[in-house]
Amino acid sequence: MQQTTRTTDSLDARLCADLDSLRAQDLRRELQLLDSPQGPHIRIRGRPLLNFASNDYLGLANEPAIKAAAIEAVERFGAGAGSSRLLSGSLPPHTELERTLAEFKRTEAALSFVSGYAAASGTICALAGKEDIVILDKLVHACIVDAARLSGATLRVYRHNDLEDLESILKWAAGRSRGSGAPPRVLVATESVFSMDGDCAPLQELVGLKEKYGASLMVDEAHATGLYGPGRRGMAEARRVSSDIEIQMGTLGKAVGSAGGFIAGSRALIELLINRARSFIFSTAPVPAAAAAAKAGIEFISSSAGEERCRLLWQRVEELHSALAGQQLGTGNLRTEAGLDSQFRSAIIPVLLGAEEKAISAARGLREQGLFVPAIRYPTVARNRARLRIALSAVHTAADIRRLAEALRGLHLKLEALNA
Ligand SMILES: *Cc1c(COP(=O)(O)O)cnc(C)c1O
Repeated sequence: MQQTTRTTDSLDARLCADLDSLRAQDLRRELQLLDSPQGPHIRIRGRPLLNFASNDYLGLANEPAIKAAAIEAVERFGAGAGSSRLLSGSLPPHTELERTLAEFKRTEAALSFVSGYAAASGTICALAGKEDIVILDKLVHACIVDAARLSGATLRVYRHNDLEDLESILKWAAGRSRGSGAPPRVLVATESVFSMDGDCAPLQELVGLKEKYGASLMVDEAHATGLYGPGRRGMAEARRVSSDIEIQMGTLGKAVGSAGGFIAGSRALIELLINRARSFIFSTAPVPAAAAAAKAGIEFISSSAGEERCRLLWQRVEELHSALAGQQLGTGNLRTEAGLDSQFRSAIIPVLLGAEEKAISAARGLREQGLFVPAIRYPTVARNRARLRIALSAVHTAADIRRLAEALRGLHLKLEALNA
């Protein structure tokens, strides 16, 4: 019994030491408790803050029509789904969402998951195994990295958006074989718009390469669904390569305003996932409210109101870019991975600062002025690639953007003073 106590003590002691070490490296994280709904104006412990931290790009998380859809689903189908979809949990809101998603993405079929994380893990593990090869962009989201590791496939990583590096790995993969002597299955996975850098993958060139080498392509559109293309279907639509991408992934918790993840593709792909995706099979279905809200979110995005929301978002993004053009900030020019003046625009505007401590101090400085802009640190980004990550929303006003730009300019002076 004494030993049990000692073991517990020593576990906690070790955990406390780990936490202290995180703090010493400026990597300790803490939950921020909001006491308001999601939106551009939030309150944290009673204090009003202008929010630039959310991925609710179109302001749909608190949109009346979408809330109403969730409430109606609760009234009709209850609070919980009760079981896995394959047992008894497959409800009308799930199938209606999937029909809507397939129509929206113009694919044969779609499958929804409780989260984007679960969609990635279920899908990659269903498609790749020990004898296969998964090739990832260096900056791809953690859920895809984790899924690739879990799949047991041979994992290769190419330099961010570097087509030459990818091609050399594809060549290497083409020279390998499975135990049976057959060529290995090769899956390439990338994001379309990268979550922490706001830059874009060269989708057309990626399609060209995967076709040249007979690989399959999975594209995670978490930060592009609802925002790009004439039908706001995502970057694959904007670049006219939707029908060439076998596995189109998206999330329902960002621009769509609800929660969940999805895969859109061929009927065979979706049937296979229903049979093989462990995060789908062995997990309780999304609650009816989430599925119904997501369906309403996709319908909103497809409507003229969605088009107008999207136009407003890009207007705000332009306003911030022009307000900050030529700004010096921190250690150098305010710059994104893609370069601030590049043609490509996303709702994610990172301000690279380098050292973890610098990003924390910048975030603190903004917070003191009533602006909530998160410091993004390792392991979300590489060590010493810490940054502020500004995420804009269609429901920010022009005045909100001016306030942010002014605060960033003011911060520049402070950071310069720190450097001096
Ligand atoms: C947020 C995110 C996910 C995970 O989606 P959740 O629904 O939040 O689990 C996957 N991929 C990318 C690129 C993301 O940013």
